[in-house]
Amino acid sequence: MKAHHGMYIGGEWRPAAGADTIEVVNPVDEQVIGRVPAGTSADVGHAVRAARAALPGWAATPPTERAEKLAALRDVLVARKEEIAETVTAELGSPLPFSQAVHAGVPILVAGSYAELAATYAFEEKVGNSTVYHEPVGVVGAITPWNYPLHQIVAKVAPALAAGCTVVLKPAEDTPLTAQLFAEAVAEADLPAGVFNLVTGLGPVAGQALAEHPDVDLVSFTGSTTVGRRIGGTAGAAVKRVALELGGKSANVILPSADLAKAVNVGVANVMSNSGQTCSAWTRMLVHTSQYEEAVGLAAAAAAKYGDRIGPVVSAKQRSRVRSCIEKGIVEGARLVVGGPESPREQGYFISPTVFADVTPDMTIAQEEIFGPVLSIIRYEDEEEAVRIANGTVYGLAGAVWAAEEAEAVAFARRLDTGQVDINGGRFNPLAPFGGYKQSGVGRELGSHGLTEYLQTKSLQF
Ligand code: NAD
Repeated sequence: MKAHHGMYIGGEWRPAAGADTIEVVNPVDEQVIGRVPAGTSADVGHAVRAARAALPGWAATPPTERAEKLAALRDVLVARKEEIAETVTAELGSPLPFSQAVHAGVPILVAGSYAELAATYAFEEKVGNSTVYHEPVGVVGAITPWNYPLHQIVAKVAPALAAGCTVVLKPAEDTPLTAQLFAEAVAEADLPAGVFNLVTGLGPVAGQALAEHPDVDLVSFTGSTTVGRRIGGTAGAAVKRVALELGGKSANVILPSADLAKAVNVGVANVMSNSGQTCSAWTRMLVHTSQYEEAVGLAAAAAAKYGDRIGPVVSAKQRSRVRSCIEKGIVEGARLVVGGPESPREQGYFISPTVFADVTPDMTIAQEEIFGPVLSIIRYEDEEEAVRIANGTVYGLAGAVWAAEEAEAVAFARRLDTGQVDINGGRFNPLAPFGGYKQSGVGRELGSHGLTEYLQTKSLQF
């Protein structure tokens, strides 16, 4: 795998300030596939200076020109789609078809949507005797996780650039090669120097330096609630804007009138996809007591079919985290129906697709994010209890509702404390606002709602 030995700052690859490096490991065979520099606060300082210097020019660039640049960036991502998919597969371990369709495909859609929005968004409006300008917030510090390595980057960088902001990105240490590829794409699309800058490095070093940097105007973070809380605190103390996309523990509520087999099969596929490393995964399946054992049987059969077909989790650390969650489920008395904590292979960070039945809402596996291919099936007696259980975690990122009639599912979905709900298997919409209620986060990504995160208003009265 190709790896750069420098940081992409001010439109060029520059040597890192320090000599430390981070090893990138292929989770399928545990082999080192590359090394990238471990950035320090000095690298972050250089990158922020470059972003600050580029800001006035980029902010003053007409939105239609910014749109053209974003369209050029989208075109480069299209041209390099295969390479992107192969890179994500190499450092995240996801099967290649999934990398092609989702890890490479979705960022292309999102970049395209912001090329269009930049050209059409009303950056100026009249309100009575005022003209209101929607102006860029400034220099953005973007910190991203590894689970959808390119999507998380594009979901921040594309709207930030569309708004007229400039960006310093600190990607996850497990997947920096995809981030370097994105920097190459930015260069190839001929974006002005300094508009996008990349510093690879460790979270508590480079990430923290970026979050704390006084010349960053907005910190946009996606990752765990623990780190997000800390970044939110730092931003609050500095009175600076912050967007947080955090964890989830979403409920898949199957109402008694639903097509049970379809709801269970789609639900299992949702949890197993990306080896369960999806913040919005429906990891709790809620089934009416009258259909409970049938649903458990269907879920077990569906999960067993995944067997060897899912990829590993991203790292040894992640594998041991997921294993200890599975062990906790067993100790707390849940019924293990499929899978378990044992490794299905000698090599690679694999976890067997795992299904638990007889999970009660207070169990750790029903409350804490596992971030692995683990499904908990919970019983409910009536609709009121289903609402209570679905809303009974600190999270509120996503969810699903299934019923024979859409209206019934919609009425239930309106009672959920969560940012997104898929009705009867509704498709992903790259323009719909994505983000959390409660401790799942602050702010929204994607579409026009994602764009407004990077804008601030100035009103002129006449
Ligand atoms: P993480 O919070 O450990 O890391 C995320 C990013 O933050 C990485 O780039 C990391 O280097 C950086 N970081 C770590 N410590 C830091 C610090 N002290 N200061 C600044 N930056 C720091 O999370 P992870 O394990 O990489 O990712 C998994 C988590 O992300 C899960 O909890 C998942 O739900 C969440 N996630 C949420 C969304 C969403 O949109 N809501 C999307 C993907 C992942």
